[in-house]
Amino acid sequence: MSVRVRFAPSPTGFVHIGSLRTALYNYLFAKKMGGKYILRVEDTDQSRFVEGAIEGMLESMDWAGIKHDEGVFIDENKNLYQSGEYGPYIQSERLDIYKKYIKELLDKGHAYYCFCSKERLDKVREIQKAEGKIPRYDGFCKGLSEEEVKQKIESGQSYVIRLKLPANTEIKFDDIVRGVVSINTNDLDDQVLMKSDGFPTYHFAVVVDDHLMKITHVIRGEEWLSSTPKHIYLYEAFGWKAPTFVHLPNILNSERKKLSKRHGDVAVEDFKKKGYLPEGLVNYVSLVGWSPEENKEIFSLKELEEVFSLERVSKSGGVFDTDKLNWINQHY
Ligand code: GLU
Repeated sequence: MSVRVRFAPSPTGFVHIGSLRTALYNYLFAKKMGGKYILRVEDTDQSRFVEGAIEGMLESMDWAGIKHDEGVFIDENKNLYQSGEYGPYIQSERLDIYKKYIKELLDKGHAYYCFCSKERLDKVREIQKAEGKIPRYDGFCKGLSEEEVKQKIESGQSYVIRLKLPANTEIKFDDIVRGVVSINTNDLDDQVLMKSDGFPTYHFAVVVDDHLMKITHVIRGEEWLSSTPKHIYLYEAFGWKAPTFVHLPNILNSERKKLSKRHGDVAVEDFKKKGYLPEGLVNYVSLVGWSPEENKEIFSLKELEEVFSLERVSKSGGVFDTDKLNWINQHY
């Protein structure tokens, strides 16, 4: 089986240095394994869409030299185009595909229509909070009959479609960095899969697309680790083989908190403007969260492609160290 990995950014703003690292590790793993690296745009949350963010992201990747084989590209006139046999690679252009698969899930009894109003959901959440519980959907619409659902849809009521999780069932997966992760469905929510605007949520689209695009390894930030059991459940519900998961530790600031804009430069664009060389930044970022076997710190991209391995990605977050970045940058 040939390796296929993907970087799947949401066009919500600037490119965080952590995203550059996620893209880089995907790229390096694909190169090392003789596989393919795909770039997919995840724009199903239209309320967070930022104009020009896709173009800016692709320019940052080009600048850094992290080139993809398939997906969304930008030409010299700054026009977007797509290339590859599994497209379209922009999720908002795949709505018909998600509709087909949500129907399959409904037919199989793994999803259900939910007509609850925002007011009702807010009230339930408030009561649960007051009782010291973690707020979760209470399953109010789970038991609606086919006839009731039909009537509500015909009368024009707006709805979402939720994942129907079984009670008290263990979901398990083996993450390359984190090892075995296990969670009981009693601790999970009946995730919304389709929103009332007809767009899928991230959780649904990511599973459908990773499957259809034949992704073998999902390498992404650890903020998605807690979502993965829901994704695993979806793979099982469809009867699909799940990819291998690799959750990368966060990049931290000197106080060991997640590196964010408040703490200084975090956007690739900031480093570019300050005159850092792409080779220096990429070399430095490769070492935040991964360590080579040999005692060496200066690597060209070509050298990284040869020595990179997922087994040497660290479990704990790497601290961003500007002095070290500067030192490495001076070697180019
Ligand atoms: N669209 C998600 C993000 O921007 C990608 C998560 C994933 O790789 O599955 O973080």
